[in-house]
Amino acid sequence: MSDICAVSTPLAEGGISVIRISGENAVSVAAKIFKPLSCESVENMQGYTCAYGRITDGEKVVDDGVLTVFRAPKSYTGEDVAEISCHGGIFVTKQVLRLCLKNGAVLANKGEFTKRALLNGKMSLTQAESVMDTISAQGEYELASANLTREGRLFKKISGVTKRLVKILGELAAWVDYPEEDLPEVEEENLRTSLKESIAVTEKILRDYDNGMVLKRGVDTCIAGKPNVGKSTLMNMLLGYDRSIVTDVAGTTRDVIEESAKIGELTLKLSDTAGIHETDDKVEKIGVEIAKKKLDNAMLIMEVFDTSRPLDDEDKELLEYVKNTGRKTIIVLNKSDLESRIDKEFFNSYSNSIVEISAKNEEGKDSLQSEIEKMFSPEDYDADSTIFANERQMNCAQTADKYLKMALESLDMGETLDAVTVMIDYAANALMELTGEKATEAVVDEVFSKFCVGK
Ligand code: GDP
Repeated sequence: MSDICAVSTPLAEGGISVIRISGENAVSVAAKIFKPLSCESVENMQGYTCAYGRITDGEKVVDDGVLTVFRAPKSYTGEDVAEISCHGGIFVTKQVLRLCLKNGAVLANKGEFTKRALLNGKMSLTQAESVMDTISAQGEYELASANLTREGRLFKKISGVTKRLVKILGELAAWVDYPEEDLPEVEEENLRTSLKESIAVTEKILRDYDNGMVLKRGVDTCIAGKPNVGKSTLMNMLLGYDRSIVTDVAGTTRDVIEESAKIGELTLKLSDTAGIHETDDKVEKIGVEIAKKKLDNAMLIMEVFDTSRPLDDEDKELLEYVKNTGRKTIIVLNKSDLESRIDKEFFNSYSNSIVEISAKNEEGKDSLQSEIEKMFSPEDYDADSTIFANERQMNCAQTADKYLKMALESLDMGETLDAVTVMIDYAANALMELTGEKATEAVVDEVFSKFCVGK
């Protein structure tokens, strides 16, 4: 395998840049361009040691810096690794990278260091995927979850189930293939128990995924209300800047606008919609349809009303519509700076969460925030649960869950053990694809295509 190199730090001006080389000859490549001042020779450096010295191109000094050496298998990739830290200028960093290329290393592909770690058995596929999650984590919970996966908890949980299924498959195969041998009959009751316990694990994993996604991806939030009640102003208040156009003309917010707002630890993915009022305007009609669909799928709906005007049919229509969606709802009574012309009691039958605000004056933001946090409390998050890094993992878990349930059903319906075996086999394969124990090259390539170069 060739020696690969890449800049592992962002290519931007900063204090330090790190250029990483990995492969059988990584240290020899480094030796050609790094003249140590703090030790005799680079070639003789032990693992986990560093040296101060000059980075040179022949006789020419390019920079001074620090070389850190890791010896196989005790390195990130499992191969010999040399990391050169130089000054963090873009030009100088590129020069050092060029020197590595000139002296025998080739440029690493996206995620190739981590891919090598995987191939050398340093980590599982799920652990490799969590590396990118750690890098992209935007908050405490995302980071905690990525770290749990990198520790290998997801892998352990799943491979426990896989081992069990493989054992069952072995017993079933022996029994089905060698009926004349006097093998103990597969106890249907034991099989049923194993399937049920395996399903409990896949179900728990899928449930954790949903909870975890709230923290990781954010809460899909729909801001609904008829034109001019202050939806855009509320959105701007939550975002902290003017994103949508606020005007006095009803119906300005035609398109669904999406933005992310940070509320404490939570991220709200806001969409500001045209109301759901009856309209003859063709463009608005499409907007209304989109708005209804958004409401049906939202994780949180903020219904906005203008308290300075009496409620009309359109407001009531919205209240009914939202109530029927059964979604988590906060009723936002806006324009509290103006004289109230509505009966607040009226809203009690529509939601337990009612907040008065003045979006224009940015008043009531705190009470709104505490209502939201009450509904999606990060404390509800099971810190010990593992959430998947991505859709790929979730799809595998769903497939396994589906086939395990089908296997149980087949067993209950008294079908042949052959049929049950096939389902269990599919489930085991899906789980092994999840952890990477049996992932195809195509799956592995797909995973690493999402990485950054240098990781
Ligand atoms: P949308 O159509 O629901 O998005 O409503 P906008 O956010 O565009 O607001 C409509 C009008 O109401 C604008 O003139 C806003 O300045 C005004 N408005 C919004 N919020 C408040 C508020 O809390 N108090 C007052 N007095 N006016 C507001």
